[in-house]
Amino acid sequence: MLTNGFLGDEVARLGFGAMRLPIIDGDTSKIDQAATDEMVDAAIAAGVNYFDTAYPYHGGMSEIALGRSLARYPRESFYLTTKYPGHQMADIYDPAPIFEEQLSKCGVDWFDFYLLHNIYEASIDVYLDGRWGIADYFVEQKKAGRIRHLGFSCHGRPETLSRFLDFGARKYAELKERDPETAALFAGENIMEFCQIQMNYLDWTLQDAAAKTAILEDAGIPIVVIEPLRGGKLASLPKEQATRLGSAGTNMSAVEWSFRWLMGIPTVKVILSGMSTPSQVEENCRIFQEAAPLSEEQKGLLMDVAESLKGGVPCTACRYCTDSCPQQINIPMLLSTYNDMQFDTSFTISMQMDAVPVGQRAQDCIQCGACMRMCPQGINIPDALEKLARSLEKMPKWADLCRERAEAAAKLKEASA
Ligand code: SF4
Ligand code: SF4
Repeated sequence: MLTNGFLGDEVARLGFGAMRLPIIDGDTSKIDQAATDEMVDAAIAAGVNYFDTAYPYHGGMSEIALGRSLARYPRESFYLTTKYPGHQMADIYDPAPIFEEQLSKCGVDWFDFYLLHNIYEASIDVYLDGRWGIADYFVEQKKAGRIRHLGFSCHGRPETLSRFLDFGARKYAELKERDPETAALFAGENIMEFCQIQMNYLDWTLQDAAAKTAILEDAGIPIVVIEPLRGGKLASLPKEQATRLGSAGTNMSAVEWSFRWLMGIPTVKVILSGMSTPSQVEENCRIFQEAAPLSEEQKGLLMDVAESLKGGVPCTACRYCTDSCPQQINIPMLLSTYNDMQFDTSFTISMQMDAVPVGQRAQDCIQCGACMRMCPQGINIPDALEKLARSLEKMPKWADLCRERAEAAAKLKEASA
């Protein structure tokens, strides 16, 4: 298994993501423990040592199932990661009881890596809000040795990522002044020591992963990757794109192309794969046994394939259109979401759209057409926004999902009381 140094630990480049564990009867909260154990055993035998879960995964059951699987191994032999759910809508945020619950659910005394889950446009203010003291609480847990490395995951736009990194740097400066001994425990001059982002060769441009990587590189923050296969979509490409990759004269699968492309990015330390079957574990582990970087020509082919996978409109985010909009709609941002939805829909889209101010959403476009006259790409903006609004209407709402998750967590607590 390929490994690399990550914040002083020697970590396998392939990480085991516990967000799509095998389930029973199609119920995501009923995890097949025996099948999970089998997959964890195979991954560990192949050299995987980084395991990632989160409070809401599998209706709160992922932390329990992964904890049970790993409890069969010495605690020092694996790195365990989980996340604080400040991105979920709630009336109050109190990290202490959730953190204690997570330690208990996972059956451990410490987490090796701990993340503030999903910083994005709506959740960032929760994490920055002094009333909740979320960052301060987790700095204290690091001081107490219950977290070895503190970081965050981000589904927000590049500017939101930068804003949160600035917050982490300010917090570090305050800590250094107040408690230099604790500040010295951090890897750099930021209380956020690492960051997890969605990255794959399609999202390099589609979700601005290239810009986010550059920001993190500049800040000296190592990266953990999620969705390397975009929820499995890049594992089974449409015929046209599969044929193009097949014509390159290698016998690499679509999965291997994706992973090898990611392995070529030096700041990417761990590539998480949410594996659901033993055969996925086997294939992924095989790919990560040897370094075989893609050539420049192969990387170029993959970028061409990414372009051909994209649908939607050719917005370049020049923003010539925005000043003319009477509704002050962030047109390039909504068109980027529109393009994203041509390839796939996910709850992160609904979550991001909930963060758009009321009055400036896709459905608030009054179809005046003023923007179109400014667009050098000739995009029919009102038409795209209307289609986006119609698609969003059919998607589950983030607020509903948060409510369901809160109910599942309450039931779980009741059952274990
Ligand atoms: S058509 Fe819609 S997006 Fe374009 S300027 Fe008018 S209100 Fe704004
Ligand atoms: S003017 Fe056209 S290309 Fe430029 S941001 Fe607006 S929609 Fe996109």
